[in-house]
Amino acid sequence: MIYDIVTIFPEFFRGPFEHGIIRRARDERLIDLRIHDLRHYTLDKHHTVDDRPFGGGEGMVLKPEPLFAAVESLLSDQTLEKRAQTAIVLLSAQGKLLTQPVAQALAAQQRIVLLCGRYEGVDERVAEHVATLELSIGDYVLTGGELAAAVVVDVVTRLLPRALGDERSVVEESFTPHPEARISAGGILDCPHYTRPADFRGYKVPEVLVGGNHEEVRRWRRRQALLKTKRNRPDLLEGAELSEDDRRRLEEKERG
Ligand code: SAM
Repeated sequence: MIYDIVTIFPEFFRGPFEHGIIRRARDERLIDLRIHDLRHYTLDKHHTVDDRPFGGGEGMVLKPEPLFAAVESLLSDQTLEKRAQTAIVLLSAQGKLLTQPVAQALAAQQRIVLLCGRYEGVDERVAEHVATLELSIGDYVLTGGELAAAVVVDVVTRLLPRALGDERSVVEESFTPHPEARISAGGILDCPHYTRPADFRGYKVPEVLVGGNHEEVRRWRRRQALLKTKRNRPDLLEGAELSEDDRRRLEEKERG
């Protein structure tokens, strides 16, 4: 996977990709991260990237010319076939929400260009005529698209084949309606996890987890995953595929 990040703060990305799985994916050349300074694509001697908004109002807006020029330059040597496997993502609070299925669709591409906004945002013609996807990482407003771009790289990279040591790690995960999932099947949250010590300051690990009965552990985990989803993200249960057993487990709790 090739990631091209276009930003007015290239130094921002010195740290976030130097650790753990992302670092290993870079070292093993599963991913190629390229950071581009938007100011390199300006034509005036002051390297101007922003201007006042038409219609008045507060703040500055990122101009369209450098962003158009950056994308055209980055993709200039691409064949039409390669272009079809390239996502051009504008990070924006007004975008489509980043969810696990959206991340999975991005992970199927060969290249992702990430355009980071700043100030009041980006001239709308970039969303209309350059980006193939306007993407938000959540319902809140960041100061810039850089953190959002780093989130996209992180989320997508761990879905790439061979990025995680253990391939099963992406099966049993929150939000992931994976065909082989048993605990988080149907797209609910993952179950709680515990490790040693079994007794920490009197807070004990649930007995079933140290009992060695795999079927009981599986049932307990599924039930906890359901209950945690109900407690923290009841909206997910509405779209989840639940079995009769699942519904019973949820009702049991309701009755206390
Ligand atoms: N005026 C914009 C609005 O209210 O929607 C907010 C602009 S924000 C201060 C500046 C930049 O941060 C945006 O252009 C975008 O690139 C990035 N940004 C802010 N919130 C974001 C979010 N939730 N997801 C992705 N990018 C975001």
